[in-house]
Amino acid sequence: MFQAILIEKDGGDVRSSLSDVDDQRLPPGDVTVRVAYSTLNYKDALAITGKAPVVRSFPMIPGIDFAGVVEHSDHPAYKTGDKVALNGWGVGEQHWGGLAQQARVNGDWLVPLQNPFTLRQAMAIGTAGYTAMLCVMALEWHDVTPDKGEVLVTGAAGGVGSVAVALLSKLGYDVVAVTGRPEEAVYLRALGAKDVLDRAQFTEPGKPLAKERWAGAVDVVGGQVLANVCAAMKYRGTVAACGLAGGMSLPTTVAPFILRGVTLAGVDSVMCPKELRIEAWRRLSEDLDLDKLDALTEEVGLPDVISAAARLLDGQIRGRIIVPIGTEMA
Ligand code: NDP
Repeated sequence: MFQAILIEKDGGDVRSSLSDVDDQRLPPGDVTVRVAYSTLNYKDALAITGKAPVVRSFPMIPGIDFAGVVEHSDHPAYKTGDKVALNGWGVGEQHWGGLAQQARVNGDWLVPLQNPFTLRQAMAIGTAGYTAMLCVMALEWHDVTPDKGEVLVTGAAGGVGSVAVALLSKLGYDVVAVTGRPEEAVYLRALGAKDVLDRAQFTEPGKPLAKERWAGAVDVVGGQVLANVCAAMKYRGTVAACGLAGGMSLPTTVAPFILRGVTLAGVDSVMCPKELRIEAWRRLSEDLDLDKLDALTEEVGLPDVISAAARLLDGQIRGRIIVPIGTEMA
């Protein structure tokens, strides 16, 4: 038996609980991992609370990421004792995930733990941090260099936003953070933000084109905020868009794209090709300040994950939540 958060569906109701699960019920896969740490991402919170149809089959163990030690492997790339991490691939949505003492997955989905990270640090970064790195790389591919001007990060006090602020400032960008929690300004400046703006400045419908201000942007919010960010991009600027914390819609016009050559670069971490994942983790090992990583991390035990999920969706969590599970391996 192993302990896990289990999401069950009873008629129309979704119910999550801390449960003992028989390991005979683990799904098919060629690598079994003893989980050391998992995390609580926005998508996990949606799954656990049932606020959005993230889970595709029930019962489901949530947890879109985990880091741990290989217990058994029939995969040529891994052997017992190897330290590994996993992000995405539908784990925690359609395949049992990481908020559990054990996980069994397809070995092709794993990445070897990247030096110099510990298992704990790998999950302090987690899917949110690795997605933040993918966003930064998307800006770089579109020639958004530090000399081009200010770079905006929305949802800055959340998981993706916090890591994006830390990465961009370390890389020499002038980072402007947007937050709905002005009380987090000190935290955001400590992560490297040069300036902090109130989200309220971005939530009302604006003109198709506003004054040009941002050379680049990382957006986790979507909706009206993303529309207003696009309208204020500098000529040939790029927005890396990865989230929908403020909504799925995008009430914009083509004006920023056809008149200013703005690029809207979509970022997906779930099905991201393996070479790019490995490159993102390599870049994190170079470009993320580990002291800042500690400052943006909160630990929540497995039994408290369900209440933390509700707090996260209420916008009350700062930075990243990591969930220690089998920490003696870390
Ligand atoms: P968090 O909950 O940690 O952060 C989201 C932040 O968005 C909040 O902290 C808050 O920041 C802001 N926010 C919350 N609600 C609203 C709202 N109604 N309007 C405007 N801003 C809001 O989540 P994550 O950082 O883990 O994820 C952020 C988004 O990115 C999510 O939508 C998630 O699904 C997506 N994501 C996408 C991935 C991909 O592969 N494309 C991978 C990982 C995440 P503040 O208080 O500072 O304003």
